[in-house]
Amino acid sequence: MTLHVIPPSRADDARAASAVGAAVASPTTRPGPQRLAPASRASRKRVLVVEDEQDIADLIKHTLERGGDVDVETVNSGDAALKAATEQPPDLVVLDLNLPVLSGLEVCRILRQRSATATVPIIMLTARTSEGDRITGLDSGADDYVTKPFSVRELAARVRAALRRGRPAEPAQATTYQGTHLTADFDAVAVTVDGVAVKLTRREFELLRYLVDNRNRVLSRDRLLERVWGYDHYIETRSVDVHVGRLRAKLGAAGRQIETVVGLGYRFVE
Ligand code: CA
Repeated sequence: MTLHVIPPSRADDARAASAVGAAVASPTTRPGPQRLAPASRASRKRVLVVEDEQDIADLIKHTLERGGDVDVETVNSGDAALKAATEQPPDLVVLDLNLPVLSGLEVCRILRQRSATATVPIIMLTARTSEGDRITGLDSGADDYVTKPFSVRELAARVRAALRRGRPAEPAQATTYQGTHLTADFDAVAVTVDGVAVKLTRREFELLRYLVDNRNRVLSRDRLLERVWGYDHYIETRSVDVHVGRLRAKLGAAGRQIETVVGLGYRFVE
């Protein structure tokens, strides 16, 4: 992996050393320097990095913590990840798919089943490039994925974006969306683009609502089928494409917000 890493400042070193020391001394103690004001400490996000290759784990930790507002705990196995996430649910998990014993997919599924971690954003790292693995990763509950070899800066950008989005509100989602062109009132079943009302079928409306509720997340065709059509509808995944195509056309200028993610599915971008 060729990566250019800017040498850390002394403050970064102190922070990293402090975080490591705290993690070793007591895994249940929130790592972080004591000198931080409570408000500042409270706003720091905790990221759990699950990666069995120590140099990669260290690099991710260093890069994320360099921003100054994130504390990173690294673990090198799925077992340790489940233990750490249960003791103190993190704000985000970076999860390597290829782990010894308990795979990243299994860890992801278990985290999703536990109420404390059911909605924690998970970014999966995968060395595999096959479409099947990526879809399996997303269907197991991951929010995003990065394929190795990856740019650590891109990963950091995705982590920051996911932390900004935070955990999805459950169960009550926002009932309105206001974008540059698109205005949608999901309670009133009213959708307009540039002030002009758009007539959607019930299915197109539900599809739009699900895409908007999960904005900036990649949604596989299977997940859309499950959530928008339901398991009792035996339709082909290809008809998801047909519906998305129609919805996109009806939305005109706002249709561009529905991106096709090649080989994976769709994403509504803000
Ligand atoms: Ca690995």
